[in-house]
Amino acid sequence: MASRLIQIATALLLSACFVQAQATVVNEQSISNPDNEWLSYGRNYKEQRFSPLDSVNRDNVDGLDLAWSFKFSTARGMEATPLVHKGVIYISTGWSHVHALDARTGEQLWHFDAKVPRDHLIKTCCGAVNRGVAMWQGDAETGLQIFFGTLDGRLVALDAKTGEANWVVQTTPDNSNYSVTGAPRVVDGKIIIGNGGGELGVRGYITAYDTTTGGELWRFYTVPGDPSKPQEHPALDAAVKTWGGDEWHRLGGGGGTVWDSLVYDPELDLLYIGTGNGSPWNRELRSPGGGDNLYLSSIVALRPDTGAYVWHYQVTPKDNWDYTATQQLTLAEIEVDGEERKVIMQAPKNGFFYVLDRVTGELLSAEKFARATWASHIDMETGRPVETEYADYQANGGSYIWPSPYGAHNWQPMSFSPKTGLMYIPVQNIPHYFSAQKSVEYKVNRWNTGVDLNESRDPLSWVAGQASADALISGELLAWDPVNQKPAWKVPHASPANGGILSTAGDLVFQGMGNGTFAAYDADNGDALWQYQSDSAVLAGPMTYELDGEQYVAVAQGSGGTVMLTIGDNLMRKKVNQNKLLVFKLGDFGLTRALADESLATILPLSEELNATPEQIKKGEELYGHNCGTCHGISAKSNYIVPDLRYMSDQTHLDFVGIVLGGSRSHKGMVGFYETHTVEDVENIHSYLKHQQQRLPEMVEMTFAQKIEYWVTYGLAKVGEQFPGLLNATRDMSY
Ligand code: CA
Repeated sequence: MASRLIQIATALLLSACFVQAQATVVNEQSISNPDNEWLSYGRNYKEQRFSPLDSVNRDNVDGLDLAWSFKFSTARGMEATPLVHKGVIYISTGWSHVHALDARTGEQLWHFDAKVPRDHLIKTCCGAVNRGVAMWQGDAETGLQIFFGTLDGRLVALDAKTGEANWVVQTTPDNSNYSVTGAPRVVDGKIIIGNGGGELGVRGYITAYDTTTGGELWRFYTVPGDPSKPQEHPALDAAVKTWGGDEWHRLGGGGGTVWDSLVYDPELDLLYIGTGNGSPWNRELRSPGGGDNLYLSSIVALRPDTGAYVWHYQVTPKDNWDYTATQQLTLAEIEVDGEERKVIMQAPKNGFFYVLDRVTGELLSAEKFARATWASHIDMETGRPVETEYADYQANGGSYIWPSPYGAHNWQPMSFSPKTGLMYIPVQNIPHYFSAQKSVEYKVNRWNTGVDLNESRDPLSWVAGQASADALISGELLAWDPVNQKPAWKVPHASPANGGILSTAGDLVFQGMGNGTFAAYDADNGDALWQYQSDSAVLAGPMTYELDGEQYVAVAQGSGGTVMLTIGDNLMRKKVNQNKLLVFKLGDFGLTRALADESLATILPLSEELNATPEQIKKGEELYGHNCGTCHGISAKSNYIVPDLRYMSDQTHLDFVGIVLGGSRSHKGMVGFYETHTVEDVENIHSYLKHQQQRLPEMVEMTFAQKIEYWVTYGLAKVGEQFPGLLNATRDMSY
């Protein structure tokens, strides 16, 4: 009897420990300090993506093994970070599904499909992805709710127990170019959601809704509306003076979308948002006569109760290069000049790492964390970047610029460890050839950038094909010291497709790759400690949680979005994309498997003569560049999440006009272009693609070293002959 009592007492004590480590309700207090759980997109309000869990650590991480995985029904890319509360994982997928899974076993508890119309895909920049859900405890009647945004702009509140929708609101105008891919956040009973669409032409804003009713509480526009009319709030009266003409308004709205980062400081009662690029990209077409174009590419602090403006810092004034400042915002307390400061940090697309005082918005420091040739430095007197001769591609007739519109850092989450004091950043080193269009006419359902996206406008591609450009691109896991603004260490990656990052008190840094590896590194020096090979790209943010005293590490796999759509990784090219959740813990579960060899495509020789004139191919290339390339890849080189059109089968060639004009594959998201294009246009595109198919054998599957050699001996020399002076930006290592 006594031992039975001891057993019960022990069980009660143990369960008391676990209850203590798990939030009883999801509210401001528990999101601020989620202990063993993961309650918001970036784990807590600070969005450091650092977990205090350490039972998996650098001494035992080599014993980490796949405990279970869950295969999702969608294959359109995975960018979501799962949330975990009370033993349940909540995760969103491509095409706006949400799943609730048992966090111990992976058993599905419920599944919600938002049934997004597939033709909405053409309104997105980077695939039908979704980065995550939010959660909040309502009153006794409402209970715990799971919130997420759908690709077509709805905000959905789900009952966490049943997965049934409590309410749904449309957060974007009907028949507009908006989409939603980002995770919403909850602040004091308000659910905050942004949107995307800057490439297509929209006006950025965020909206706050009541978590219980779905009623709209406030909306903050990031850029002015019609300049001939009163603006919605006083901060826009100041902003409108920084725009020239009214073109931005006529061309869809100016951009500045808030498609990813939202952070909250409960103590200061400030909500911070990161705003997107200008629309169109080309600043001369967007704002003739100049101007900084507030609040594009900015960090803006707002009052979460009202949406009132408090301060802003513009990361990229006069944006001209798709340099969003939507990238992750992270709050921390760090020492600056011997004094502890409450800071907000960002590694935006433009290649500079920013540390700001988050009370006042004062810029404390900014240095390059990646190659950036558009600006030499940030002038600390003015807080403004100093542009180089390469930046103004309108004036110089076109130039190579680092970083590219993919960004030196994009949506892939970074992580800040208070233990090491380092920020771990997935860096993308990719140049881009910027060439201005003379004019731009706004088109619904199309990219409206004012920048030429054709291969032939890029002399480097023209000479050497895609391979030469590949030689210049790479990725990097960078450990950055934000106090001294310099690298602590780096792990070079051959591909820029490197994934989001988790750091833990176990002295570990976890990162996935476009080639399907998921690895753990020593947080102090970057030593590789453990690696798992999955069967698809691993790019989403990893996370960790503890249940019954066991630590789990989870990450979503699945290719898609930005870099993977168009550049990707050679290892994964032509492989069947698998969207899964991978969950690891210490042990030996016998599930680890080698890379699947399921090849989707082989190089098919054209079974017909290419009966097209060079003029037709050229026309086809131009049409391809402006209508197809943003999904199917520059030069028709895709990563096969969206089909690589150089690998078309005979049947697809036969059906080509029906697919492209008639929309016979619109159920898969490939809409028909009959409203805007003729049969002749489509035949010209087809000729260009056949031409690319014929060129394929000379362009495929070079190793990284071969590409470098190709670039040095062929590309550089040829381009140098043809375009003297053009590659100064490439050779000029002073930036
Ligand atoms: Ca953009």
